[in-house]
Amino acid sequence: MTSIPTITLNNGVEIPQLGFGVYQVEPDQTKDATLTALEVGYRHIDTAQMYGNEAGVGEALRESGIDRSEIFVTSKLNNGFHRRDDALKAFDGTLDALKADFVDLFLIHWPLPTTDVDYLETWKALEEIYATGRAKAIGVSNFQQAHLQRLLDEADVVPAVNQIEVHPYLANDSLRLFGVEHGIHTEAWSPIAQGKVLEDPTLVEIAERVGKSTAQVTLRWHVQRGDIVFPKSVTRSRVEENFALFDFELSDVDVAAITDLDKGERTGPDPDTFDYIPS
Ligand code: NDP
Repeated sequence: MTSIPTITLNNGVEIPQLGFGVYQVEPDQTKDATLTALEVGYRHIDTAQMYGNEAGVGEALRESGIDRSEIFVTSKLNNGFHRRDDALKAFDGTLDALKADFVDLFLIHWPLPTTDVDYLETWKALEEIYATGRAKAIGVSNFQQAHLQRLLDEADVVPAVNQIEVHPYLANDSLRLFGVEHGIHTEAWSPIAQGKVLEDPTLVEIAERVGKSTAQVTLRWHVQRGDIVFPKSVTRSRVEENFALFDFELSDVDVAAITDLDKGERTGPDPDTFDYIPS
């Protein structure tokens, strides 16, 4: 079976560079989709309280028969639970839903900088959770440079990762570089921009030349840039396709050409203004 490279996070925890994302996978389809990914060989699952499907991930983990220590599981704190006591309770909810006694990585999903909650308070709650060993690593998602800087200045634990939107139309390089400088690894969400980049002429040309699909070329670009990725698909053939990234390499010229496609185009919300809190 293909062996997936691992990345060592700033606290020594190892994470498979390629995983499987379950955003927008219906709760009642999540167990089967995750089982398919595990059968194909994925050993890293990215879920979140907001996705409403942690229980399905947990069922798949148990049904797969694979030793829990071989699978890396990430979840994220939902918006609306940023205050300390709420965050601690919500984390317990994640473990209950997964029927697990730990997660490998737990993230603050969004910083919500325009609301009346303070992500620094939330981060300190995650530090408490980390100290109990029930999250092997903690990190953030959708944090901009100023938000990261504040944690670096005022908190004790440096986030292990920052999970942000990155794909060929949003290279997000200055934030990625800031992460490199401070030991915060970038995880690239919506790595194929939910499919929006797949007909790009530059990607089509490279894909035809190297004999791969545009999705594979795009995901390989992420891998060669060093980011962690977890494409989502409920289609088995695509789950397999997205896993087959380690038998070819892009030239530096092709990597640069894909990076040049950057036009600062988001598929998701702007983290500086996103203030959605589920009711
Ligand atoms: P992706 O960029 O992974 O794209 C998923 C879409 O592309 C689906 O519609 C899927 O269709 C389709 N697709 C997948 N593979 C292929 C392929 N090989 N060829 C053609 N189409 C394909 O989008 P996501 O937004 O799901 O991002 C991936 C993961 O990132 C999420 O699942 C989640 O874990 C994380 N994420 C985190 C966010 C955050 O705020 N922290 C925000 C958004 C995502 P189908 O399923 O029908 O096959």
